[in-house]
Amino acid sequence: MKKILEELEGLKQKDQLRKIPQIESKSDGKIVVDGKEYINFASNDYLGISTKKALRDEFLKNADYLLSTASARLLSGSSPEYSALEKTVADLWGKEAALIFNTGYQCNLGVISALVGKDDVVFSDKLNHASIIDGMQLAKGEFIRYRHFDYDNLEKLLESKRRQYKRAIIVTESVFSMDGDVVDLDRLIELKKKYDCLLMVDEAHAFCCYGDNFTGLSKGRDVDIITGTFGKAVGSFGAFCVSSEAIISYLINKARSFIFSTSIPPLNIAWSNWLLTEKRSFLEAQKAKLSELTSSVHRLMESRGIETVSGSHIIPIIIGENEKTVKVSEKLRSLGFYIPAIRPPTVPEGTSRLRISLTADCRLEDFERMLDLV
Ligand code: PMP
Repeated sequence: MKKILEELEGLKQKDQLRKIPQIESKSDGKIVVDGKEYINFASNDYLGISTKKALRDEFLKNADYLLSTASARLLSGSSPEYSALEKTVADLWGKEAALIFNTGYQCNLGVISALVGKDDVVFSDKLNHASIIDGMQLAKGEFIRYRHFDYDNLEKLLESKRRQYKRAIIVTESVFSMDGDVVDLDRLIELKKKYDCLLMVDEAHAFCCYGDNFTGLSKGRDVDIITGTFGKAVGSFGAFCVSSEAIISYLINKARSFIFSTSIPPLNIAWSNWLLTEKRSFLEAQKAKLSELTSSVHRLMESRGIETVSGSHIIPIIIGENEKTVKVSEKLRSLGFYIPAIRPPTVPEGTSRLRISLTADCRLEDFERMLDLV
Protein backbone atom coordinates (compact mmCIF):
# COMPACT_ATOMS: atom_id res chain seq x y z
CA MET A 1 0.00 0.00 0.00
CA LYS A 2 2.85 2.37 0.88
CA LYS A 3 4.35 1.82 -2.57
CA ILE A 4 1.01 2.57 -4.27
CA LEU A 5 0.65 5.82 -2.36
CA GLU A 6 4.24 6.74 -3.22
CA GLU A 7 3.61 6.08 -6.89
CA LEU A 8 0.45 8.17 -6.83
CA GLU A 9 2.39 10.99 -5.18
CA GLY A 10 5.06 10.62 -7.88
CA LEU A 11 2.44 11.02 -10.61
CA LYS A 12 1.06 14.08 -8.82
CA GLN A 13 4.54 15.65 -8.60
CA LYS A 14 4.94 15.16 -12.35
CA ASP A 15 1.49 16.66 -13.09
CA GLN A 16 0.51 13.26 -14.44
CA LEU A 17 -2.14 12.20 -11.94
CA ARG A 18 -5.38 11.52 -13.77
CA LYS A 19 -8.87 12.02 -12.38
CA ILE A 20 -12.22 11.30 -13.99
CA PRO A 21 -13.93 14.61 -14.79
CA GLN A 22 -17.50 15.12 -13.55
CA ILE A 23 -19.27 15.45 -16.88
CA GLU A 24 -22.93 16.27 -16.46
CA SER A 25 -24.22 16.57 -19.98
CA LYS A 26 -23.27 17.03 -23.61
CA SER A 27 -25.16 18.65 -26.43
CA ASP A 28 -24.21 19.78 -29.92
CA GLY A 29 -20.63 21.04 -29.63
CA LYS A 30 -21.00 21.83 -25.91
CA ILE A 31 -20.20 20.03 -22.67
CA VAL A 32 -21.26 20.69 -19.08
CA VAL A 33 -18.58 19.88 -16.47
CA ASP A 34 -19.02 20.61 -12.76
CA GLY A 35 -22.05 22.75 -13.50
CA LYS A 36 -20.38 24.94 -16.13
CA GLU A 37 -20.88 24.83 -19.90
CA TYR A 38 -17.89 24.81 -22.26
CA ILE A 39 -17.23 24.64 -25.97
CA ASN A 40 -16.23 21.03 -26.50
CA PHE A 41 -13.02 20.57 -28.47
CA ALA A 42 -12.35 17.20 -26.84
CA SER A 43 -14.92 14.91 -28.37
CA ASN A 44 -14.36 11.91 -30.64
CA ASP A 45 -18.02 12.04 -31.62
CA TYR A 46 -16.74 13.47 -34.88
CA LEU A 47 -20.09 13.59 -36.67
CA GLY A 48 -21.95 14.80 -33.59
CA ILE A 49 -24.22 11.74 -33.63
CA SER A 50 -24.29 10.72 -29.97
CA THR A 51 -25.86 13.95 -28.73
CA LYS A 52 -28.61 14.26 -31.34
CA LYS A 53 -31.78 13.70 -29.34
CA ALA A 54 -34.09 13.68 -32.38
CA LEU A 55 -32.04 10.91 -33.93
CA ARG A 56 -32.10 8.88 -30.72
CA ASP A 57 -35.85 9.35 -30.35
CA GLU A 58 -36.45 8.27 -33.94
CA PHE A 59 -34.45 5.09 -33.41
CA LEU A 60 -35.95 4.27 -30.03
CA LYS A 61 -39.54 4.73 -31.27
CA ASN A 62 -39.44 1.34 -32.95
CA ALA A 63 -36.62 -0.26 -31.01
CA ASP A 64 -37.32 -3.42 -29.10
CA TYR A 65 -33.97 -5.01 -28.42
CA LEU A 66 -32.41 -6.85 -25.51
CA LEU A 67 -30.26 -4.78 -23.18
CA SER A 68 -27.98 -7.68 -22.42
CA THR A 69 -26.85 -10.84 -24.19
CA ALA A 70 -25.71 -12.31 -20.87
CA SER A 71 -23.21 -14.43 -22.72
CA ALA A 72 -20.31 -14.50 -25.15
CA ARG A 73 -21.22 -14.80 -28.85
CA LEU A 74 -19.98 -18.38 -29.14
CA LEU A 75 -22.33 -19.52 -26.39
CA SER A 76 -25.77 -17.87 -26.38
CA GLY A 77 -24.74 -14.23 -26.82
CA SER A 78 -25.31 -13.81 -30.54
CA SER A 79 -28.38 -12.38 -32.23
CA PRO A 80 -29.54 -11.38 -35.75
CA GLU A 81 -28.49 -7.77 -35.11
CA TYR A 82 -24.88 -8.90 -34.97
CA SER A 83 -24.88 -10.64 -38.35
CA ALA A 84 -26.70 -7.67 -39.89
CA LEU A 85 -24.07 -5.21 -38.66
CA GLU A 86 -21.22 -7.52 -39.65
CA LYS A 87 -22.65 -7.68 -43.16
CA THR A 88 -23.06 -3.90 -43.25
CA VAL A 89 -19.42 -3.18 -42.38
CA ALA A 90 -17.96 -5.93 -44.57
CA ASP A 91 -20.02 -4.53 -47.48
CA LEU A 92 -18.79 -0.98 -46.86
CA TRP A 93 -15.28 -2.18 -47.70
CA GLY A 94 -16.40 -4.80 -50.21
CA LYS A 95 -14.61 -7.44 -48.12
CA GLU A 96 -15.66 -11.02 -47.43
CA ALA A 97 -16.38 -10.85 -43.72
CA ALA A 98 -16.38 -8.88 -40.49
CA LEU A 99 -16.37 -9.60 -36.77
CA ILE A 100 -17.76 -7.34 -34.06
CA PHE A 101 -15.67 -6.86 -30.94
CA ASN A 102 -16.81 -5.18 -27.73
CA THR A 103 -14.44 -2.23 -28.06
CA GLY A 104 -11.67 -1.02 -30.35
CA TYR A 105 -9.24 -1.78 -27.55
CA GLN A 106 -10.38 -5.40 -27.32
CA CYS A 107 -10.42 -5.65 -31.09
CA ASN A 108 -6.78 -4.65 -31.64
CA LEU A 109 -5.73 -6.64 -28.60
CA GLY A 110 -7.56 -9.75 -29.81
CA VAL A 111 -6.58 -9.52 -33.49
CA ILE A 112 -2.86 -9.02 -32.88
CA SER A 113 -2.49 -11.52 -30.07
CA ALA A 114 -4.38 -14.12 -32.14
CA LEU A 115 -2.50 -13.64 -35.40
CA VAL A 116 1.00 -13.35 -34.00
CA GLY A 117 2.07 -16.78 -32.82
CA LYS A 118 5.49 -17.72 -31.47
CA ASP A 119 7.17 -17.86 -34.89
CA ASP A 120 5.61 -14.60 -36.08
CA VAL A 121 6.37 -10.89 -35.89
CA VAL A 122 4.65 -7.50 -35.86
CA PHE A 123 6.18 -4.35 -37.30
CA SER A 124 4.40 -1.47 -35.63
CA ASP A 125 4.56 2.32 -36.01
CA LYS A 126 6.01 3.78 -32.80
CA LEU A 127 3.01 6.03 -32.25
CA ASN A 128 0.39 3.31 -32.63
CA HIS A 129 -2.38 3.24 -30.03
CA ALA A 130 -2.02 1.50 -26.65
CA SER A 131 -4.41 -1.26 -27.76
CA ILE A 132 -1.93 -2.24 -30.50
CA ILE A 133 1.02 -2.11 -28.12
CA ASP A 134 -0.83 -4.19 -25.53
CA GLY A 135 -1.85 -6.69 -28.24
CA MET A 136 1.81 -7.09 -29.17
CA GLN A 137 2.78 -7.57 -25.55
CA LEU A 138 0.18 -10.27 -25.19
CA ALA A 139 1.16 -12.02 -28.42
CA LYS A 140 3.53 -14.99 -28.26
CA GLY A 141 5.67 -13.65 -31.13
CA GLU A 142 8.13 -10.81 -31.52
CA PHE A 143 7.34 -7.15 -31.96
CA ILE A 144 9.46 -4.53 -33.60
CA ARG A 145 8.61 -0.83 -33.63
CA TYR A 146 9.64 1.47 -36.47
CA ARG A 147 10.05 5.23 -36.16
CA HIS A 148 6.78 7.06 -36.74
CA PHE A 149 6.15 7.38 -40.52
CA ASP A 150 9.80 6.51 -41.22
CA TYR A 151 9.29 3.88 -43.89
CA ASP A 152 13.01 3.75 -44.74
CA ASN A 153 13.55 2.70 -41.15
CA LEU A 154 10.77 0.11 -41.56
CA GLU A 155 12.31 -1.21 -44.76
CA LYS A 156 15.71 -1.66 -43.08
CA LEU A 157 14.05 -3.61 -40.29
CA LEU A 158 12.10 -5.73 -42.78
CA GLU A 159 15.25 -6.40 -44.74
CA SER A 160 17.23 -7.58 -41.74
CA LYS A 161 14.52 -9.33 -39.70
CA ARG A 162 11.61 -10.47 -41.86
CA ARG A 163 13.08 -13.82 -42.93
CA GLN A 164 13.56 -14.98 -39.33
CA TYR A 165 9.78 -15.32 -38.90
CA LYS A 166 6.86 -17.09 -40.50
CA ARG A 167 3.94 -14.66 -40.51
CA ALA A 168 4.67 -10.92 -40.42
CA ILE A 169 2.15 -8.14 -39.92
CA ILE A 170 2.73 -4.44 -40.47
CA VAL A 171 0.35 -2.40 -38.28
CA THR A 172 -0.51 1.26 -38.52
CA GLU A 173 -3.27 3.69 -37.72
CA SER A 174 -4.63 5.60 -40.72
CA VAL A 175 -5.27 8.96 -39.05
CA PHE A 176 -3.13 9.02 -35.92
CA SER A 177 -5.07 9.60 -32.73
CA MET A 178 -2.81 12.13 -31.02
CA ASP A 179 -1.21 13.97 -33.96
CA GLY A 180 -3.92 13.76 -36.62
CA ASP A 181 -1.28 13.04 -39.25
CA VAL A 182 -2.15 10.70 -42.08
CA VAL A 183 -0.42 7.48 -43.11
CA ASP A 184 1.21 6.92 -46.52
CA LEU A 185 -0.62 3.74 -47.47
CA ASP A 186 1.03 3.51 -50.91
CA ARG A 187 4.44 3.07 -49.34
CA LEU A 188 3.20 0.53 -46.79
CA ILE A 189 1.44 -1.49 -49.48
CA GLU A 190 4.63 -1.55 -51.51
CA LEU A 191 6.59 -2.80 -48.48
CA LYS A 192 4.03 -5.37 -47.45
CA LYS A 193 4.15 -6.86 -50.95
CA LYS A 194 7.93 -6.77 -51.22
CA TYR A 195 8.44 -8.46 -47.84
CA ASP A 196 5.43 -10.76 -47.87
CA CYS A 197 3.59 -9.28 -44.88
CA LEU A 198 -0.02 -8.77 -43.94
CA LEU A 199 -1.02 -5.12 -43.59
CA MET A 200 -3.35 -4.12 -40.76
CA VAL A 201 -4.82 -0.61 -40.62
CA ASP A 202 -6.67 0.80 -37.63
CA GLU A 203 -9.27 3.23 -39.01
CA ALA A 204 -10.54 4.30 -35.56
CA HIS A 205 -10.21 8.02 -36.29
CA ALA A 206 -10.99 7.93 -40.00
CA PHE A 207 -14.02 5.61 -40.15
CA CYS A 208 -17.04 7.68 -41.23
CA CYS A 209 -14.93 10.87 -41.43
CA TYR A 210 -13.13 10.10 -44.69
CA GLY A 211 -13.45 7.97 -47.77
CA ASP A 212 -16.00 6.58 -50.08
CA ASN A 213 -18.71 4.70 -48.14
CA PHE A 214 -17.28 6.05 -44.83
CA THR A 215 -14.33 3.67 -45.13
CA GLY A 216 -11.49 5.94 -44.12
CA LEU A 217 -8.37 5.48 -46.22
CA SER A 218 -8.33 1.75 -46.85
CA LYS A 219 -11.19 0.94 -49.22
CA GLY A 220 -10.12 -0.68 -52.46
CA ARG A 221 -6.51 -0.81 -51.26
CA ASP A 222 -4.42 -3.89 -50.69
CA VAL A 223 -5.02 -3.91 -46.94
CA ASP A 224 -5.57 -7.33 -45.35
CA ILE A 225 -7.06 -6.41 -41.99
CA ILE A 226 -9.04 -3.29 -41.13
CA THR A 227 -10.10 -2.43 -37.60
CA GLY A 228 -12.30 0.40 -36.41
CA THR A 229 -14.60 1.48 -33.63
CA PHE A 230 -18.26 2.48 -33.46
CA GLY A 231 -17.42 4.54 -30.36
CA LYS A 232 -16.18 7.63 -32.18
CA ALA A 233 -17.70 9.01 -35.41
CA VAL A 234 -20.64 6.58 -35.38
CA GLY A 235 -21.69 7.81 -31.94
CA SER A 236 -22.31 4.29 -30.71
CA PHE A 237 -20.28 1.58 -29.01
CA GLY A 238 -18.35 -1.50 -30.06
CA ALA A 239 -15.82 -2.18 -32.78
CA PHE A 240 -15.10 -4.31 -35.82
CA CYS A 241 -12.49 -6.14 -37.80
CA VAL A 242 -13.05 -6.48 -41.57
CA SER A 243 -11.03 -9.02 -43.52
CA SER A 244 -11.13 -12.25 -45.51
CA GLU A 245 -13.43 -15.13 -44.60
CA ALA A 246 -10.38 -17.15 -43.46
CA ILE A 247 -8.96 -14.49 -41.15
CA ILE A 248 -12.34 -13.73 -39.58
CA SER A 249 -12.93 -17.44 -39.02
CA TYR A 250 -9.46 -17.68 -37.44
CA LEU A 251 -10.27 -14.77 -35.11
CA ILE A 252 -13.55 -16.37 -34.06
CA ASN A 253 -11.50 -19.36 -32.97
CA LYS A 254 -8.41 -17.64 -31.57
CA ALA A 255 -9.09 -14.07 -30.46
CA ARG A 256 -9.45 -14.40 -26.71
CA SER A 257 -10.91 -10.93 -26.16
CA PHE A 258 -13.73 -12.01 -28.49
CA ILE A 259 -14.15 -15.55 -27.17
CA PHE A 260 -14.12 -14.90 -23.44
CA SER A 261 -16.23 -11.77 -23.04
CA THR A 262 -19.98 -11.12 -22.90
CA SER A 263 -21.06 -9.50 -26.14
CA ILE A 264 -22.46 -5.98 -26.18
CA PRO A 265 -26.23 -5.40 -25.99
CA PRO A 266 -28.19 -5.88 -29.23
CA LEU A 267 -29.69 -2.43 -28.67
CA ASN A 268 -26.29 -0.87 -29.32
CA ILE A 269 -25.56 -3.15 -32.25
CA ALA A 270 -28.91 -2.22 -33.84
CA TRP A 271 -28.24 1.50 -33.25
CA SER A 272 -24.90 1.26 -35.11
CA ASN A 273 -26.50 -0.64 -37.97
CA TRP A 274 -29.49 1.71 -38.19
CA LEU A 275 -27.16 4.71 -38.48
CA LEU A 276 -25.01 3.05 -41.14
CA THR A 277 -27.96 1.88 -43.23
CA GLU A 278 -31.05 4.06 -42.62
CA LYS A 279 -29.25 7.31 -41.78
CA ARG A 280 -26.53 7.32 -44.40
CA SER A 281 -27.55 10.63 -45.89
CA PHE A 282 -27.47 12.30 -42.47
CA LEU A 283 -24.03 10.83 -41.80
CA GLU A 284 -22.85 12.01 -45.23
CA ALA A 285 -24.12 15.53 -44.50
CA GLN A 286 -22.33 15.62 -41.14
CA LYS A 287 -19.19 14.22 -42.77
CA ALA A 288 -19.30 17.03 -45.35
CA LYS A 289 -19.69 19.61 -42.55
CA LEU A 290 -16.70 18.17 -40.73
CA SER A 291 -14.64 18.17 -43.91
CA GLU A 292 -15.48 21.80 -44.63
CA LEU A 293 -14.66 22.88 -41.08
CA THR A 294 -11.39 20.92 -41.14
CA SER A 295 -10.31 22.66 -44.36
CA SER A 296 -11.23 26.09 -42.96
CA VAL A 297 -9.32 25.44 -39.74
CA HIS A 298 -6.20 24.34 -41.64
CA ARG A 299 -6.45 27.41 -43.92
CA LEU A 300 -6.76 29.63 -40.86
CA MET A 301 -3.72 28.08 -39.21
CA GLU A 302 -1.72 28.44 -42.39
CA SER A 303 -2.70 32.09 -42.75
CA ARG A 304 -1.37 32.66 -39.24
CA GLY A 305 1.87 30.84 -39.93
CA ILE A 306 1.05 28.04 -37.49
CA GLU A 307 2.69 24.82 -38.64
CA THR A 308 1.09 21.50 -37.86
CA VAL A 309 1.78 17.85 -38.69
CA SER A 310 -1.95 17.28 -38.73
CA GLY A 311 -3.68 16.63 -42.00
CA SER A 312 -7.05 15.96 -40.45
CA HIS A 313 -9.71 16.99 -37.93
CA ILE A 314 -7.39 16.09 -35.03
CA ILE A 315 -5.08 18.99 -34.30
CA PRO A 316 -2.37 18.85 -31.65
CA ILE A 317 -0.99 21.97 -30.03
CA ILE A 318 2.23 20.60 -28.58
CA ILE A 319 3.40 22.44 -25.48
CA GLY A 320 5.99 20.02 -24.07
CA GLU A 321 6.08 20.07 -20.28
CA ASN A 322 3.21 18.59 -18.29
CA GLU A 323 2.89 21.51 -15.90
CA LYS A 324 2.74 24.12 -18.64
CA THR A 325 0.27 22.07 -20.66
CA VAL A 326 -2.03 21.69 -17.66
CA LYS A 327 -1.83 25.45 -17.06
CA VAL A 328 -2.76 26.33 -20.66
CA SER A 329 -5.61 23.81 -20.55
CA GLU A 330 -6.87 25.34 -17.27
CA LYS A 331 -6.59 28.84 -18.65
CA LEU A 332 -8.63 27.89 -21.71
CA ARG A 333 -11.13 26.22 -19.44
CA SER A 334 -11.55 29.39 -17.42
CA LEU A 335 -12.31 31.11 -20.73
CA GLY A 336 -14.97 28.60 -21.75
CA PHE A 337 -13.09 25.93 -23.77
CA TYR A 338 -12.90 22.27 -22.81
CA ILE A 339 -9.57 20.90 -24.10
CA PRO A 340 -7.95 18.55 -21.54
CA ALA A 341 -4.15 18.27 -21.37
CA ILE A 342 -2.86 15.05 -22.93
CA ARG A 343 0.23 13.81 -21.11
CA PRO A 344 2.45 10.71 -21.00
CA PRO A 345 1.93 7.79 -21.21
CA THR A 346 -0.73 8.68 -23.81
CA VAL A 347 1.90 10.69 -25.71
CA PRO A 348 5.73 10.46 -25.55
CA GLU A 349 7.57 12.23 -22.70
CA GLY A 350 8.17 15.92 -23.40
CA THR A 351 5.34 16.19 -25.95
CA SER A 352 2.38 16.99 -23.71
CA ARG A 353 -0.26 18.76 -25.67
CA LEU A 354 -3.71 20.05 -26.16
CA ARG A 355 -5.44 17.66 -28.52
CA ILE A 356 -8.15 19.50 -30.36
CA SER A 357 -10.66 17.30 -32.06
CA LEU A 358 -13.05 18.99 -34.42
CA THR A 359 -16.54 17.64 -34.77
CA ALA A 360 -19.28 18.53 -37.26
CA ASP A 361 -20.86 20.64 -34.51
CA CYS A 362 -17.79 22.78 -33.78
CA ARG A 363 -17.62 26.33 -35.14
CA LEU A 364 -14.76 28.04 -36.96
CA GLU A 365 -15.21 31.25 -34.97
CA ASP A 366 -14.78 29.34 -31.70
CA PHE A 367 -11.59 27.74 -32.99
CA GLU A 368 -10.29 31.16 -34.03
CA ARG A 369 -11.11 32.66 -30.63
CA MET A 370 -9.40 29.74 -28.91
CA LEU A 371 -6.24 30.24 -31.02
CA ASP A 372 -6.11 33.89 -29.95
CA LEU A 373 -6.03 32.77 -26.33
CA VAL A 374 -3.42 29.98 -26.39
N1 PMP B 1 -7.56 2.54 -31.86
C1 PMP B 1 -7.27 3.84 -31.77
C2 PMP B 1 -6.33 4.42 -32.77
C3 PMP B 1 -7.85 4.63 -30.78
O1 PMP B 1 -7.54 5.92 -30.68
C4 PMP B 1 -8.76 4.04 -29.87
C5 PMP B 1 -9.47 4.83 -28.78
N2 PMP B 1 -8.96 5.99 -28.40
C6 PMP B 1 -9.01 2.69 -29.99
C7 PMP B 1 -8.41 1.97 -30.99
C8 PMP B 1 -9.93 2.01 -29.02
O2 PMP B 1 -11.26 2.12 -29.40
P1 PMP B 1 -12.41 1.97 -28.31
O3 PMP B 1 -12.53 3.30 -27.65
O4 PMP B 1 -13.60 1.53 -29.05
O5 PMP B 1 -11.92 0.95 -27.32
